[in-house]
Amino acid sequence: MFGRRYELFKLFGIAIRVDLSWFVVLALITWSLANGWFPESHPGLEASTYLWMGLFGALGLFVSVVLHELAHALVARRYGLAINGITLFIFGGVAEMRDEPPSPKVEFRVAIVGPIASILIGAVCFLAAGLGVLPAVAGPIVEYLATINLVLAAFNLLPAFPLDGGRVLRSVLWGWKGSLRRATRITSAIGAGFGTVLIVLGIVSLLWGQQLIGGLWWVLIGMFLRQAAQASYQQLLLRHALEGEPVSRFMATHVVAVPRSLSVRELVEKYFLEHHHKMFPVVDDGRLVGCVTTQEIKPLARDEWERQSVGAVMQKCGRDNSIEPEADAMDALGRMSRTGTSRLMVVASDELVGIVSLKDLLEFFALKVELDEKGNW
Ligand SMILES: [Zn+2]
Repeated sequence: MFGRRYELFKLFGIAIRVDLSWFVVLALITWSLANGWFPESHPGLEASTYLWMGLFGALGLFVSVVLHELAHALVARRYGLAINGITLFIFGGVAEMRDEPPSPKVEFRVAIVGPIASILIGAVCFLAAGLGVLPAVAGPIVEYLATINLVLAAFNLLPAFPLDGGRVLRSVLWGWKGSLRRATRITSAIGAGFGTVLIVLGIVSLLWGQQLIGGLWWVLIGMFLRQAAQASYQQLLLRHALEGEPVSRFMATHVVAVPRSLSVRELVEKYFLEHHHKMFPVVDDGRLVGCVTTQEIKPLARDEWERQSVGAVMQKCGRDNSIEPEADAMDALGRMSRTGTSRLMVVASDELVGIVSLKDLLEFFALKVELDEKGNW
């Protein structure tokens, strides 16, 4: 979901990161505050003052979003859920949780606390602005933050999964009907439907309301929501099918390995082109020493193929290309998606025992989903 991310700082041990796309939003919000919101609500100031107000308003929004996500993350951690950190990106923020909440009650609390945090921040800002104790230009900024936090809370409370309101609804349905899968299917269908509504509204305001940026924005958020709603349902099915299944169950034990001394030319001709795999384990005297993928061959010029040996270009064994036989199949999938590889070596005490491939994992998944269709979980 994310491109390049930068860690800004840690809060309560939770990493706060920004995706590159977030800087675009920062600039857009600063610009629209400096040219629209502030001049309209507080006319008569200088253009440079509006620009500063816009920048501080946008940074205030950033702090607000971080606090909202932090509320989710801290409550989740209190219930023992693993947190990967908070990432801010083009559509706001996400507290990345590695696990699904274990019960409807936990899901409800983790979900509701974000909007509650936003409502509290909004209320505090309203009070501060209302009391009139703030210095001149800070007043309008705090007023803006009061409004935007309440808008944030309201938007997030829409019952469209994976928005917070959708999670709240899912927890209620889950508690009521006892089936996480059905609760997720219903709420993610609502989420996808809501995404479609946003796309249509965006197009309408784009064509008839002449709202270029606003309209485009709704279309993009709508597309994102649709995609996120469908992906979370898929993710849930995937997790249910693969979690708790050891890698050894899926691995192929007949493995074609290549000797370390082989030339790159022979590797390409006799292995890559013959077997159609993108990765081969490399062995030396029957001992596993690494692996070689098409990635290592790409940068080599043709005339180097004869001179270079597999041993000189291979990758060493590590977490990115190998996994233990007793590891969870979900872990294997996570590793594959993180590194973009489709095959992992299965290694037990430095010995190659098999290969697990994305294709085998997905085939098992498809089968299990078919069999589960009528299951009740
Ligand atoms: Zn939230």
